[in-house]
Amino acid sequence: MRDYRAFILDLDGVIYRSERLLPGAREFIAWADASGRKLVFVSNNSFATPAEVTAKLVRLGAPAPEGRVLTSGAAAARLIAARRPGGSVYVLGVPAVEGMAERAGLRVVWRDGMDAPTPDAVLVGLDFGLSYDRLRRGLRAILAGADFIGVNRDPMLPVEDGFDPGTGSLVAALEYASGRTAEIVGKPAPGIMLEALRAMGAEARETLVVGDGVELDIVAGHAAGMDAALVLTGMSTRAQAEAATGLSKPDYVFDGIGDLLTALRGE
Ligand SMILES: [Mg+2]
Repeated sequence: MRDYRAFILDLDGVIYRSERLLPGAREFIAWADASGRKLVFVSNNSFATPAEVTAKLVRLGAPAPEGRVLTSGAAAARLIAARRPGGSVYVLGVPAVEGMAERAGLRVVWRDGMDAPTPDAVLVGLDFGLSYDRLRRGLRAILAGADFIGVNRDPMLPVEDGFDPGTGSLVAALEYASGRTAEIVGKPAPGIMLEALRAMGAEARETLVVGDGVELDIVAGHAAGMDAALVLTGMSTRAQAEAATGLSKPDYVFDGIGDLLTALRGE
C-alpha cells in the first residue's frame, strides 16, 4: 500500500454502526494520531451539525474527534463562504443549517420573507418546515441569479417506520421549477471531499478516502482525485465491489477498518 499521510473517513459503516464503534476504529485513529497522519470524519447527513456528530463520537469512545468532523451541510456552507466571503444566503433547511452558514461567515437572509436584496446563494438542505412560501423564496432567488447549492441528492430519508422525502426531492422541485441544475456538495459529489482536504490542509495524492458505499464514498473520493478504500462493514458487499466499474471501483477492499490498519502498518 502507498504510505498515505491523510485519511478522509466516512462514519456510518466505517467508524460506527448505530450506537457502537466498529472493531479497529479506535486503534486506527490512535495509530494515525501517534504517527502524525491527518484525518477528518465526514458525514453526508444534511441536518446534523459537526458538534452533534462530534458528541456522538465522544459518547462512543472515539479518540479526540473535536475539530475533525465535517458534515455535508457544513461543507456546503463553507463552499459558499469560500466563493462569496461574507455573502448572503437563503437557507431552505432546518435552523441547524442556518447556524452552519452563519458560522461560515455568511449572512442568512429571507428567513421571514423577501425583505432584503436577492441573496448571493440558495442553500437547499432538508427543510422540515417546508411551505409553499419558503419554496417560492428559493425559486425567486434562483431565477434572479443566486448560486444554487444542494446539500445532497438523496431521494428519500430512511426513518423508523419507512421513508420520508429526502433533500434531493426538494432540490429536484427547485430544479424543475427553475430549469437550472443545482451544484451538489454531499457524496457522491466531490465537494465534501474537497472541503475535507481543505480543512486538513492535505493534498489529494497523499490522501485515502475510506468508505462503505461504492456508489457514494468511492465515487466521491475518485471524483475528487483521491484513492479510495472500501470496507465491508456497511452498505456495499464484496460482490458489489468486484462488479463495480469506473469511479465506483475501489482501489482496495478490506473486511473492516482494522484490516486496513494492518495493511497500512505493513503487517
Ligand atoms: Mg457510510
